[in-house]
Amino acid sequence: MQLVQDQYQVVGNPIKHSQSPWIHSQFAQQTQQNLGYIACQLSLDNFEAEIRTFFSQPQNKGCNVTVPFKERAFHLVDELTERAQQAGAVNTIKKQTNGQLLGDNTDGVGLVRDLLAKGVNIAGSKLLIVGAGGAARGVLQPLLAQQPQQLVITNRTLGKAQELVQRFSHNTSISAQPMSQLDQAFDLIINATSASLSGDIPALLTAVINAKTVCYDMMYGAQPTPFNQWAKAQGCPYYYDGLGMLVEQAAESFWLWRAVKPETTSVISQLRARLKG
Ligand code: NDP
Repeated sequence: MQLVQDQYQVVGNPIKHSQSPWIHSQFAQQTQQNLGYIACQLSLDNFEAEIRTFFSQPQNKGCNVTVPFKERAFHLVDELTERAQQAGAVNTIKKQTNGQLLGDNTDGVGLVRDLLAKGVNIAGSKLLIVGAGGAARGVLQPLLAQQPQQLVITNRTLGKAQELVQRFSHNTSISAQPMSQLDQAFDLIINATSASLSGDIPALLTAVINAKTVCYDMMYGAQPTPFNQWAKAQGCPYYYDGLGMLVEQAAESFWLWRAVKPETTSVISQLRARLKG
């Protein structure tokens, strides 16, 4: 008798450029897990009902959630992990054995793992986060857990950065500052804005970069992102995009669902080649 294959999906709107089905099929092959994984565009009007219908089928075990549904997923699930609670957003849903939906957020751990794998020092560093949207919020706690000396958040709309800082007001190393007043170099700058999507660059002063600064753009692509091109032009010696973060957050979702840890280094380099090809 053929066993029914466990099914997973990534949902978003739009979704057709998602690399997640390819990444998870690599993980499944590598770890010999028998599962299916597809991308599915859900309607903006009917997200909650469509997710509930998906999970009503016994073979459907888990789901990744991307833009613009992460906050709606946060409110939809029955239970939250601590890191999803802190992020205020859910990118991974797991159907538990009792049928309840568990919401998790693996973006922050994905970013931190990718930075550490690249040899980037977070502990004791002066860290600048540019952007105060969902992605910034999701990575703050995991970054703070690495104990940077200072974590500054800046954003085009400063009030949103100040709101984020309020959530972590117990931590004295975190502050919000306007971009125009940042005139000292940072060890690590993480671009968590979506500016690169439209070819824009946040209005940072060039003084934020010196010869030791590492820049990281959460966006990724076949070519260096506009932010990383700007960083390079300012003399930044080390700049990375968010492709490693994408694979690492997927690996953490896979672990949550399957209790198996896939190897990520080869998947990151294959995905890089695939994007360029
Ligand atoms: P949101 O829409 O929640 O937030 C967008 C942020 O970008 C806001 O801070 C906004 O500022 C800022 N912004 C947008 N346009 C500009 C601009 N032209 N100049 C300056 N700032 C700008 O998006 P997310 O936080 O969900 O996503 C941010 C980025 O992170 C996206 O590129 C996304 O693809 C990427 N990401 C990558 C992941 C990965 O695995 N690699 C995972 C998650 C996200 P304001 O508040 O002033 O509007």
